[in-house]
Amino acid sequence: MYFGKKNAEEPVVEMVDTVVYSCESEACNGWMRKDFASAENTCPMCGSNLVEEVRELPKISNEYNAYR
Ligand SMILES: [Zn+2]
Repeated sequence: MYFGKKNAEEPVVEMVDTVVYSCESEACNGWMRKDFASAENTCPMCGSNLVEEVRELPKISNEYNAYR
């Protein structure tokens, strides 16, 4: 028998060090994952330069990119 505890367990989110481009502007908190950044290395929100840094972010499933 299956006595479901339906809401009991959330999936565990794995955190990974991820390279991101972060906006260099103090007034702007724009950033994007390097994997999803376009060739242009400027902030999509304000046009400032982006600087590369490492953040700890939830891992994205590879299924997301499976068909590109
Ligand atoms: Zn910006």
